[in-house]
Amino acid sequence: MSNEKLEQLRSDLDAVNLQLLELINRRAELVQEIGKVKLKQGINRFDPERERQMLNLIVENNKGPFKDSAIQHLFKQIFKASLDLQKDETQKALLVSRKKQKENTVVTLGPVEVGGGDPVLVSGPCSVESYEQVRQIGETLKANGLTLLRGGAFKPRTSPYDFQGLGEEGLKILRQVADEFGLKVVSEIVTPTDIEMATQYVDVIQIGARNMQNFELLKAAGRVNTPVLLKRGLSATIEEFIHAAEYIVSGGNSQVMLCERGIRTYEKATRNTLDISAVPILKQETHLPVFVDVTHSTGRRDILLPTAKAALAVGADGVMIEVHPDPDVALSDAKQQINIPQFNEFVAKLRESGLYKESAPVL
Ligand code: PEP
Ligand code: MN
Repeated sequence: MSNEKLEQLRSDLDAVNLQLLELINRRAELVQEIGKVKLKQGINRFDPERERQMLNLIVENNKGPFKDSAIQHLFKQIFKASLDLQKDETQKALLVSRKKQKENTVVTLGPVEVGGGDPVLVSGPCSVESYEQVRQIGETLKANGLTLLRGGAFKPRTSPYDFQGLGEEGLKILRQVADEFGLKVVSEIVTPTDIEMATQYVDVIQIGARNMQNFELLKAAGRVNTPVLLKRGLSATIEEFIHAAEYIVSGGNSQVMLCERGIRTYEKATRNTLDISAVPILKQETHLPVFVDVTHSTGRRDILLPTAKAALAVGADGVMIEVHPDPDVALSDAKQQINIPQFNEFVAKLRESGLYKESAPVL
């Protein structure tokens, strides 16, 4: 007799479990509906006041045997699971995310397709100093079969007493040399209102580390069609870096390339610490091309080659390196730029590694 009773109770319990299951899923459906309405109205999905009201109503109606505290605990778990459900519904992936776009973004710059598989070099002096200085570098790039010429015309310097760059004059020099040798110009812009002007001269707008979170500059870069090379901030997390890129893309400019350039750590052996793992993470999380700046990350001529190889080995789409005809007299970054023979050797050795084979047709 008592066995029969136990069987009966167990079967009642099974039935209640199934009722609870049905009710809990019915509740989840309602939460999803609410999530959609909130998304349309732009309301935050977590509403602590509403949660408090629901808990009060439940506790007021609690007739036991569960204690109020136990009921509150159980329902809090249900609320949390429901909130997570809303998250999937309402939290949309970023535009730069791989979840949004499976294929790589490819930025075409003359004969090179950045992000299209074959890595490329961006090279040139830290600062544009004169036509002759840039011309010598342009000639060197051309002789090495390279396309992307860099050079700073607007220099964001740590000290206001340091060389600030030639400004628009520097952009004109870059354009002139690039046109002479069939190259493409990459140059940093630091002021939102200069973006429009810069598009006349440059093929790629660089946004420097110090300006990665200059949101007005990012928005201005989002309003033009010129490709953008965005450098990682000195102390920016990967998440902040990705969101900075999102500012440009969400503003309407999909041609964005990322550049890891080292971050601030306690290590003093290098100028910054090259976060090499950022490369595969950025490649995984976003569909944008990723560069590694070996000059500013290391600040050391002696490890440019191994760090460039490491960058390409972990999947970078390109490497940035500074080269100057006479680094000792350079107006910025004199210690870390390499001279032309050293640059030629760097390119040759990188080719020998088999990781790099860029070669533009000789004009
Ligand atoms: C540069 O590339 O010229 C430069 C200033 O680098 P960063 O913004 O990474 O310091
Ligand atoms: Mn520099």
